[in-house]
Amino acid sequence: MRRLGTVVPLALATTLLVAAPAHAGPQPTPKRPTAVGYGGAVTSVDADASRVGLRVLRSGGNAVDAAVATAAALGVTEPFSAGIGGGGYFVYYDARTGRISTIDGRETAPAAMPHDAFIDPATGEPYNFSPELVTSGVSVGVPGTLATWQRALRSWGTRSLARSLAPAEALARRGFVVDRTFHDQVVQNERRFKAFVPTRALYYAGGHAPRVGSVFRNRDLADTYDLLADRGLRPFYRGRLAGEIVRAVRRPPTTASTTLPVPPGTMSRRDLARYRAVDRAPTHVGYRGLDVYGMAPSSSGGSTVGEALNILERYDLGSLPRAEALHLYLEASALAFADRGAYVGDPAQVDVPLDDLLSDDFAAERACSIDPAHAADKPVAAGDVSSYDGSCAPSTPAAADRATDTENVETTNLTVADRWGNVVEYTLTIEQTGGSGIAVPGRGFLLNNELTDFSAVYDPADPNRIEPLKRPRSSMAPTLVMRDGRPLLAVGSPGGSTIITTVLQILVDRLDLAMTLPEAIAAARATQRNTAADLAEPAFVEEYGDALRALGHDVRTYEDIFTGTHEIGAATGIEFGPGRLLTAAAEPDRRGGGSATVLHPKRR
Ligand code: GLU
Repeated sequence: MRRLGTVVPLALATTLLVAAPAHAGPQPTPKRPTAVGYGGAVTSVDADASRVGLRVLRSGGNAVDAAVATAAALGVTEPFSAGIGGGGYFVYYDARTGRISTIDGRETAPAAMPHDAFIDPATGEPYNFSPELVTSGVSVGVPGTLATWQRALRSWGTRSLARSLAPAEALARRGFVVDRTFHDQVVQNERRFKAFVPTRALYYAGGHAPRVGSVFRNRDLADTYDLLADRGLRPFYRGRLAGEIVRAVRRPPTTASTTLPVPPGTMSRRDLARYRAVDRAPTHVGYRGLDVYGMAPSSSGGSTVGEALNILERYDLGSLPRAEALHLYLEASALAFADRGAYVGDPAQVDVPLDDLLSDDFAAERACSIDPAHAADKPVAAGDVSSYDGSCAPSTPAAADRATDTENVETTNLTVADRWGNVVEYTLTIEQTGGSGIAVPGRGFLLNNELTDFSAVYDPADPNRIEPLKRPRSSMAPTLVMRDGRPLLAVGSPGGSTIITTVLQILVDRLDLAMTLPEAIAAARATQRNTAADLAEPAFVEEYGDALRALGHDVRTYEDIFTGTHEIGAATGIEFGPGRLLTAAAEPDRRGGGSATVLHPKRR
């Protein structure tokens, strides 16, 4: 019999608590957004996941062991943002060697993905982005998360994949208490989740979304983790599970009652078998005497954050009134986004001029077009990486947006430090909240829809055009800031292309504008991605809207333009203070608040 996700009412758990306290059902795990202490730290969006990571550290595991265990637990408790059906980017600082390494675990396009994959063959017209593309086999990329975990553990971990999966397997089997975020994410996805037999069985088992306070178990996922613990990656990339993934992509297991059109994809077993997580050199820029390392393409995170920092380094932000500094942050971000759009794609298929994008001369030339007293008309044009010398030339406005921004805003991020001084900053995703909506039958996890990160319209000149076997351009920006060769800050966030501006704003707030890391993570955010308006959270508009409008900005909230409320990012980070003091920080409010933990609150 296939075992499915089950929901146990909390009332029942409470009864059990009274009857047999020693075997009480799962209780909500307490959480707090900031923790200060020593010996190791884990911070993520979820209390159960952070606790799993902390236990690994406590029992002698290192930061990589703990990061993989935490990520596997997020696959249980945050299955709509992350899991083995998706991909991500892993950044690691090794205290012994002083080296920073990164793994690109991005999903890849199948070999048979045609250039016109986003065109409906029935009509010859582009599919609607939603619902057709986001809920489809077309948008499922070959998952990279498991390959990333294996690669990280083999390179720097001290524990096996089996041991690292064990706590998450137990969590999936024992269950966890459903919080408001989990419940709401299921409800938001009701139509999509009810469109697939296995997804409906997982998340609408009782005919309704798991209730807040109930205990949710995912035995299928526990069994899948068990299988992987026993047999390694083989079943997933070459074995039975591979066949099941391919079948779900090519013939999505839709329910008889759904009216959603679900275009099928082209993934093959060969695509899964040839998947590799790729080691990459990190991006690097100097910033006010610090060294900032990030994720190189296929993500645009490191190059775009890095270019914007190079531009901003030309201004003494700390001496300016905050609104003027924010103006420069928004302008630098627009310029860096223009260049990201023009030049960044998967380096396996596109010649990305990374050195130029991160050159101080290029930044100096880009900075020339910023008027400290007035916002530029946007979109601004990309710079010319083939000819620049750092001198000022008149700037040219761009014709129009290169493409609509269709990156979604759900993903998750975690940060870990251990007693030896190793650090992991890891962002992972299945793209849209709930990914493609397609769960692999009987396996308890959702498949991503990451290929929607390719540009919607095929243009041979676009570095992010669809190509077979290509990785769609990401914005994930796991970032490490070093001072004198030692970690100062590690930070990252979800949020689609707002990841870049979230990380950038946190760095500016922390490094230039006198905020602590927890303050910088909590601060109201704005995002400027080379669009006519700056989009901002309501608190940001309230505080800086007038001052920025006086500088020519069109500042709007998401709510002014879209329906529903919209958070920008859900960051986590760790600051490394004097005397090995760790300040672990997560969101106080966004996405229900995150969970920062440290091993020892007091120095030992
Ligand atoms: N697909 C996005 C990216 O790779 C991440 C998804 C998100 O954060 O919402 O940049």
